[in-house]
Amino acid sequence: MSSRLPVEIDPYQLAAQNASLEGQLAVEKFKRFSSALATQVGQVRLSLLFYSTEDWECCVSGHCEADVQLVCQRCLVDFNYPLKAEIRLGFVGNESLVEKLPDGFEPYVFDARKKIHLIDLIEDELLLKLPMTPSHNGVAECDPEVVDYLAAGEAAVETDKQENPFAVLKTLQKL
Ligand SMILES: [Zn+2]
Repeated sequence: MSSRLPVEIDPYQLAAQNASLEGQLAVEKFKRFSSALATQVGQVRLSLLFYSTEDWECCVSGHCEADVQLVCQRCLVDFNYPLKAEIRLGFVGNESLVEKLPDGFEPYVFDARKKIHLIDLIEDELLLKLPMTPSHNGVAECDPEVVDYLAAGEAAVETDKQENPFAVLKTLQKL
C-alpha cells in the first residue's frame, strides 16, 4: 500500500486512466475534521477508484476509515471511535448538470479548470460520519464516578421542579 498520495488530483485524468489511489493521510491534515476530535493523532486510510461509466464521465468509489478519539458527551472521557465512510461521488464541473447525475451517486461540484485537493474531496465525507452527540456505547462504559455525579445533579433539579409549581399554586389560591 503506497502512502505517497498526491496532494492535488485531476479527477478527469484519473478516471480516464481508471486509476486507483490507496494510502493514508495524517488526521491532523484535515483541519475541520480533526478540530472535532479529542486528539489529532492517527491516520485516515483511503482506497479510491476513479472511473467512467456510460452515464457519467467521471466517478469515484471507495472508502476511507480512521480510528479516532472522541469526547463522550455523557462522561467527558475520550473514547475510541472506528469511523468508516463509503464514498460514491460523481464529479460535476457545472452545477446545472447535477440533476443529470445517475442515481446512487452524490454530486461533487467543482471548478473543472482546477485540480482538487484530495483532503477536500474526502473531508466532508468524514465529517458526515461523525456522531452528532458522541458517547460511549452504553452508560456501563462511561466513567462511573461522573455518571453518579451527574445522576445526583439531575435528581436535585427534578426535586426543585416538582416543588416549585405547587408552591406557586398554593400562594395563588390564597390570594
Ligand atoms: Zn462516557
